[in-house]
Amino acid sequence: MNELRKRIKDKKRIVVKIGSSSLTHKETGDIDYIRMEKLVRELSDIRNQGKEVVLVTSGAIAAGRNAMHLKEIDAESQAKAMAVKQACSAVGQARLMMTYQRLFSEYNQIAGQILMTKNTIVDNLNRYNAHNTFSELLRMGVIPIVNENDTIATYEIEIGDNDTLSAIVAALVGADLLILLSDIDGLYTDDPRRNPDAKFIEQVDELTDEYLDMGKESTGSSVGTGGMNTKLVAAKIATLSGADMVIANSADIGVLHRIIAGEKEGTLFVAHKDENFDLPDFVHSLHNG
Ligand code: GLU
Repeated sequence: MNELRKRIKDKKRIVVKIGSSSLTHKETGDIDYIRMEKLVRELSDIRNQGKEVVLVTSGAIAAGRNAMHLKEIDAESQAKAMAVKQACSAVGQARLMMTYQRLFSEYNQIAGQILMTKNTIVDNLNRYNAHNTFSELLRMGVIPIVNENDTIATYEIEIGDNDTLSAIVAALVGADLLILLSDIDGLYTDDPRRNPDAKFIEQVDELTDEYLDMGKESTGSSVGTGGMNTKLVAAKIATLSGADMVIANSADIGVLHRIIAGEKEGTLFVAHKDENFDLPDFVHSLHNG
C-alpha cells in the first residue's frame, strides 16, 4: 500500500463534503433518501471508529425549490432570482436538517447545524466564535453539519460554493483530512466528459499552476455550484492548511470507508502546510481578484 494512502488511516479530524448532485435524483431534483441514509451510516461509523467528523452538505436550495414546486428559478430580474433562491434555501435548509437529524439519531449520533458566510472567516470576532463553537461541538462528540447561510448570503458576502466552503471549514478546525464527494472520479488532465483522451490523476504531490489550470475550463454539474475549478481552489486551501484532500466519486457512498482504510480511491492531494498561509486574507480575496 502506498505510504501516503496508509497514513490516511491515522487521520483524526475529517471533513466530508457532499454536493447537491450527489444528494438528489437527476430526473426530479428531489432528495435521494437512500443515498442520504448511506452517507449518514458511513459518517456514523467513522465517528464510531473514534474519529471526529464534520459534514459540509449542499442541497438546501434544491430541496426548497422542490418543496415549493419550482422547477427552475426563472425570475424577471437578478434581484428577484436572488430573493427566490434565498427563500428556497430557508425552506430547504430546514427540511435538509430535519432529515439529517432523524437519520443521525437512528445511528445514535448527535448532529448540530452551523451556517456560514464569508464574514464568518473575514471578521475576527466571528471567526473566533465559529472556531470555538466547532471545537466545543467536536469535543462533545457532535457531528457539525455545515452549509453556506444562503438565506442571507448575497454576492458580497458569499463564499459561493461548498467545495471552497468545506476547505475553509477544514482550515478553521485544523482538520487533517478533507474528502470531497462528487459526481466525478477525481482529477483528470482534461474534462473526461468532453475529451476521451483525458487521463486520470491518482495523486497530486504538489499543487502547481499546471494542475490549477486543469480546472479552469470545467463547468461541473448542473445542480451544484462546484466544477473542478472550485475543487482545485479547495485543494489549495486544504493542503496549505495542512490537510490531505481526496476527491472521490459519490456513486458508491461506501467509498468513504475505503478511503479511510487507506485504499486507493479518487485523487489524493498531499498536504503541504505553509505557516504563512493566511486564511482570512485568502477568503477576503475570493471573488475580489
Ligand atoms: N449552498 C448551496 C445549497 O445548499 C449549494 C452550494 C454548492 O452546491 O456548492 O443549496
